[in-house]
Amino acid sequence: MSHRLHRGDLPDGLRLGPIVAIDTEAMGLNPHRDRLCLVQLSGGDGEAHLVQFAAGLYEAPQLKRLLADPAVVKLFHYARYDLAMLYRYLGVMARPVYCTKIASRLARTFSDRHGLRDLCKDLLNIDVSKQQQTSDWGNPVLSEEQLRYAASDVLHLHALRSRLDEMLAREGRAELARACFDFLPTRVLLDLEGWPEEDLFAH
Ligand code: MN
Repeated sequence: MSHRLHRGDLPDGLRLGPIVAIDTEAMGLNPHRDRLCLVQLSGGDGEAHLVQFAAGLYEAPQLKRLLADPAVVKLFHYARYDLAMLYRYLGVMARPVYCTKIASRLARTFSDRHGLRDLCKDLLNIDVSKQQQTSDWGNPVLSEEQLRYAASDVLHLHALRSRLDEMLAREGRAELARACFDFLPTRVLLDLEGWPEEDLFAH
């Protein structure tokens, strides 16, 4: 497990493979108010690439290309939030998407614990800390603890996806999961355009 910090964009020519785990850290949870500070990525090889953004500097052509690449699956935990942040600040709707939280909700109906920490514990028997979750991600100099925490948020997503895919297949819900993942960009646009809480399918 290691991490590398990059300023403003991924390095030229970096190949992370067909499935890339992604997480984001921002000044808060509101994409309209709170700026994107860090994007963490991992190809599933135990290495995390951390892209740090200064306020207003969101050029990042390499990262944008990866997010838009239809041949690369973008793997998130609670993609709804990260997709909104990435769309708001980088102007790209990441596609195609896999979300471990939705997969867990569909496959693990015996549980109401679908947080990343819960999934790491229950499916991988790994304890992950959430200690730095609320720290100041806008600081130009991130601490070693912050960087390690940020990296840990993407390092287990590939293993979680494998376990969840097995369960989804076993329970006959793989196609339903796929359909939910494919709808996520639309759900995110509804969030950003003013329907964050409303269920458009309700009576
Ligand atoms: Mn995170």
